[in-house]
Amino acid sequence: MRRIGFFGGTFDPPHKGHINAAVAACDILGLERLLLIPTYIPPHKTRDGNGATAAQRLEMTTIAAKADPRFLPDAREIERGGNSYTYDTVMSLKAEFPQSELWMVCGSDMLATLGKWYRAEDFLKEIKVAAAPRAEGELEDMRQTARLLEKNFSCEVRLLEIEPIEVSSTEIRRGGCLQALNEIAEYIQKHQLYVGK
Ligand code: ATP
Repeated sequence: MRRIGFFGGTFDPPHKGHINAAVAACDILGLERLLLIPTYIPPHKTRDGNGATAAQRLEMTTIAAKADPRFLPDAREIERGGNSYTYDTVMSLKAEFPQSELWMVCGSDMLATLGKWYRAEDFLKEIKVAAAPRAEGELEDMRQTARLLEKNFSCEVRLLEIEPIEVSSTEIRRGGCLQALNEIAEYIQKHQLYVGK
């Protein structure tokens, strides 16, 4: 059965940590495609007031998606508007790819809260989850979380045991551009993003 993955995020901006986890997910799980889906309004986090617009985040996600032929930017959450519930996204992916096995890729912080997301019980029945560490030394905690999710939701959670790249979009917005992707750094510069508003 073909495997399709999706990787949601604010992507404000996308960075090397995202690409590292995304490539690993494709390699380890044998994903045919991985959809990079920028959220419109993320229900799981508060955004600071200095962020890029949804259109700019989609453009940056499109640039980042050029890093690997298996990546595809996907605008469904931005086009849908409102709160970007993963439940809705999973239902729309299921309708689009009825014959495929769907994998959700996420980082350790998202794995930790996953059980509390809107209608988690309903969408975890429909997908499998792959989670990557964001920092050294997280795997043991992640294993416990994964076991708990598997027990509570009868779902499958795979850990991607990769060497993490410790970076966040927040750091890049604050000017620490070390782990920014080159083309994204150019985009940030060109559009004067994240300069104190
Ligand atoms: P912010 O700093 O704005 O909160 P972020 O760096 O956490 O952003 P998001 O776009 O919110 O990035 O993350 C999207 C997905 O990518 C989430 O599942 C998150 O856990 C994962 N992720 C983010 N950074 C990394 C990283 N360095 N390594 C692995 N996964 C990551």
